[in-house]
Amino acid sequence: MVDLATASSGPAAHDDEGAPLVELRGVDKHFGPLHVLKQIDLTVARGEVVVIIGPSGSGKSTLCRTINRLETIDAGTITIDGRELPAEGRELARLRADVGMVFQSFNLFAHKTVLENVTLGPIKAKGVKRAAARSRAMELLDRVGVANQAEKLPAQLSGGQQQRVAVARALAMDPKVMLFDEPTSALDPEMINEVLDVMVGLARDGMTMLVVTHEMGFARRAANRVVFMDGGEIVEQADPETFFTSPSSARARDFLSKIL
Ligand code: ADP
Ligand code: MG
Repeated sequence: MVDLATASSGPAAHDDEGAPLVELRGVDKHFGPLHVLKQIDLTVARGEVVVIIGPSGSGKSTLCRTINRLETIDAGTITIDGRELPAEGRELARLRADVGMVFQSFNLFAHKTVLENVTLGPIKAKGVKRAAARSRAMELLDRVGVANQAEKLPAQLSGGQQQRVAVARALAMDPKVMLFDEPTSALDPEMINEVLDVMVGLARDGMTMLVVTHEMGFARRAANRVVFMDGGEIVEQADPETFFTSPSSARARDFLSKIL
């Protein structure tokens, strides 16, 4: 069995556990007149699993997208493993590669096989040799339980299988942190757990993770901390047990009463 978080050539995820890996300070973001992120301060420690929940439109996806600079920010700083994300340039591309992302829609390359989807990034962006990329990809596909689908096209797979391929593809880049933006919300109910189980395994292996999800079971099983967002702000954060049983803000209580 491959340890997903430490099989990379980079430093083991357990080194330096507890040091900040992702740090946002005073992050502000507007879309025109809309103030979508308001002075966000958030630290994710190495090896920590943080779940972000909050109503639709509260800025969760935008927050994720700023962390790998799919969105620019108007003010504040974002630091990954001690290095501040620049607005652009070669350094940005390198730091962005440290951040793996899995989206709600699987975003696989439709005309590439499953195996090619996983090997493409390492070969093109990291200069990994084809044979090495293929063997690592097969290990990762095996770990997420879809090695037997390697030669198929994404459309031939179920949604749950495709999302597990998306996880393998992100891991193939040896990210330091994995972002998941509602990874199970487009799935049929019977496929949700097969994806969540892969994520729980990753968390147990020590991967640093930031996960937007309304799956409370996942939060309870895997999260160290729940961050509640509303209206572009972090309203409160707590360990899952405390948050789900006795949220301190009226806004969180109101939100939980609607989803639980
Ligand atoms: P969430 O993921 O919590 O549902 P989002 O981060 O997607 O929230 O959106 C936050 C707010 O920003 C919403 O009001 C949304 O309509 C708006 N928004 C998101 N992306 C854009 C964009 N590219 N242009 C304009 N407004 C956007
Ligand atoms: Mg969203």
